[in-house]
Amino acid sequence: MDIPAVVGLKNLSIRLKTGDLVIVDGNSGDVVLRPTGDQFQKYNRRRQKFLYFDETVHAQKDLKAATKDGIEVRVMANIESSGDLPHLAEHGAEGVGLYRTEFLYLNRNEWPDEEEQFQDYKKVAQVVAPHYAVIRTLDIGGDKISPSKSFSEVEPNPAMGLRAIRYCLKHPKIFKTQLKAILRASHYGKLKIMYPLITTVEELLAANALLEECKKQLAENEIPFDSDIEVGIMIETPSSVMLADILARHCSFFSIGTNDLIQYTMAIDRINEQVAYLYEPLSPAIVRMLSVAINAATKAGIGISVCGKMAGDPAYALLLLGMGQTINLSMDVHSIPRIKKFIRSISIAEAKQVGVEALAANDTEELKGLIAARLTLAAAEGITSALVGNVD
Ligand code: PEP
Ligand code: MG
Repeated sequence: MDIPAVVGLKNLSIRLKTGDLVIVDGNSGDVVLRPTGDQFQKYNRRRQKFLYFDETVHAQKDLKAATKDGIEVRVMANIESSGDLPHLAEHGAEGVGLYRTEFLYLNRNEWPDEEEQFQDYKKVAQVVAPHYAVIRTLDIGGDKISPSKSFSEVEPNPAMGLRAIRYCLKHPKIFKTQLKAILRASHYGKLKIMYPLITTVEELLAANALLEECKKQLAENEIPFDSDIEVGIMIETPSSVMLADILARHCSFFSIGTNDLIQYTMAIDRINEQVAYLYEPLSPAIVRMLSVAINAATKAGIGISVCGKMAGDPAYALLLLGMGQTINLSMDVHSIPRIKKFIRSISIAEAKQVGVEALAANDTEELKGLIAARLTLAAAEGITSALVGNVD
C-alpha cells in the first residue's frame, strides 16, 4: 500500500499526544518522536533521496533482471488476492510466484465454493499471461486465520498445530474443492499448484493422490484442465529440507518459504517480539538449510524459487543467487523494481563467491560482514537493504 510501517513498538501509543510530529522509517525500523529540527531535516533529505531513487528504479521496472554475466533471474510477485493483479504490471512482475489463497477464505461466513474459486483463479491465470502463477493451496491455521468455524477446540500452540496441508489432508472435501477450482482455471492460462508446510513425504504423496482423484473426476465430466499442470511444494520446515532429495522425486519445483523456515529452524514464534532477536535470516543454520534445499533441487533438476521475505532484500538475494542453480525470486510487488536493478548490478560469479564464503562463516556477525562488504556499492546507489539500512 506504499505506507511505511514499523511494528513491535510497545508503549508508543501512550507516549504519543495528538498532533505530535512522528517520523516513521520503514527501511530501518526506526520511529522518531517529536524530532529536533536537525533530525527533521536529515529525514527529509533521506526521504527525498529515497523517493528520487524509487522513481528512477521504477522507470526501469520492465528491464530484465539479468546479471552482468548474463544470467536471467525471474522476479515474481507474491499476491494475497486477485485484487492485487493490477499491481503486477505497475511494478514489472514476471508472473506470480506465490498466491496466498487463504485470504479468499477470510472474514466471511461461508467459505468460497468451487465456482467462486474457479472464477478467481481464472482471472489470475488470464492476467499473468504470458507468465505463470503459482497458486498455493490453503495455508490456514498458525499465525494465519484460524479455521474456527470447523474447529471445536482452540489449539494451545497453533504454529505447531493443524495448519496448511495438515488441515487440508484432514478435510479432503475442502481441499478437493480448491484443487478442482485450480485445475479448471489452468485451462485459461499457465498455473502451477503448490502445497504449503510439507513436512513428510507421505503428505506430498497423499496430496498428489487427491489431486489425481480431482483430475479423474474432471476428465470424466469432460471439463477441460491442463493435465500437465506442475505441482510444487513449499520448503519451510526443517524436515522438508532434510528430506528434500526424496521430496524432489515427487514434485516439479520447490519454493523456499524463508518466513516459516526461520521460525521452525530457530524454534521461535514468528510473531512473538520477545524472541524476534532470534529471527535472523543470516544465521548460519538458515544459510545451511538454504544450501541443502537448493542443492537437492539442483541435483534433481527441478525448479527452485524463494518466496519468503528474504527474496525481496538485496542482501539476502545476493546470497540466494550465489547458492546454486538459477533461482526465481518472488516478493511483495514494491520490492520488485529495486531487486531487478540490484540483480543487473551484480554478477553470478561474485554471488557464488559470497555463497561459498557464507557457508564457511561461523556466526551471524561474520555473515553480515561479508555480505555488507559486497553491498557497499548497491547501498551507495540507494538500493536499501535490511542489512545496510539507509545511506545519507
Ligand atoms: C514463508 O513462510 O516464507 C511464506 C512465503 O509463506 P507465508 O509467509 O505465507 O507463511
Ligand atoms: Mg509459510
